[in-house]
Amino acid sequence: MAERSRSYRTRAVILRRRDHGDADRILTVFTPRRGRLELIARGVRRTTSRRSGHLEPFIHVDLQVAQGRTWDVVTEATTVESFRGLRSDLGRIGRAGYVAELVDAFGQADPEALMGLWELLLLALRELDTGGGHPDLLLRWFEIHLLGLMGFQPELARCLGCGEPLQPVTNFLSLQAGGFYCPSCGERLEQGDPVEATVLKVLRHLQRSPWSAVRSLRLRRSTQAQVESVLQRYLAAVLERRPRSLHVLHRLRSLG
Ligand SMILES: [Zn+2]
Repeated sequence: MAERSRSYRTRAVILRRRDHGDADRILTVFTPRRGRLELIARGVRRTTSRRSGHLEPFIHVDLQVAQGRTWDVVTEATTVESFRGLRSDLGRIGRAGYVAELVDAFGQADPEALMGLWELLLLALRELDTGGGHPDLLLRWFEIHLLGLMGFQPELARCLGCGEPLQPVTNFLSLQAGGFYCPSCGERLEQGDPVEATVLKVLRHLQRSPWSAVRSLRLRRSTQAQVESVLQRYLAAVLERRPRSLHVLHRLRSLG
């Protein structure tokens, strides 16, 4: 009996790629139904390959894939969105790299979270591509919605100790507990970081709002820095490591 070749078609965003053998590449992609996949693209490093231009990082592609033993094989690739603007400067490339690294890290999500993650990823890439809105605020909005989708939503409304609504005063963040403690409960914490009322207010706004309601927000530099610090420490606690691409982002920022 002839072996039936099994194949599937999927939309995908290329998260990263690495060379394999003489002419092949292994692609890490994120797809809306199958989550993160590793696929092999054979022969794409040859200059004659028709697929090579479609398989660069961050491109949104339509793929035809044949199931294989070790890796599924990309047999056809068509660009859906090339995000050329996103590749136009190092700041945007660095931020897209950070978004891709986070999706890669959380890419084996529950099936019901995949479509939300897919939409979040495309929204972030589209915004970085067109350059609308504040790019760092976009990353903060992305981080908090990513955490929510993955089941790590920080508790920002009520004290984790006594359950009372948090007041607009300095409250205490606990990374281990995944949220905030009110001043009287916070006093008894061994590790609690004081967080200003403004910062908590911004975090709540980011958490409950669509990007369209956040993109025109203007924050003081110090507030922005504190919001960033809370979210990145929170993410590092969830991931149990600091994302590698943060080093790139911080270096780019120091270069101005
Ligand atoms: Zn309390």
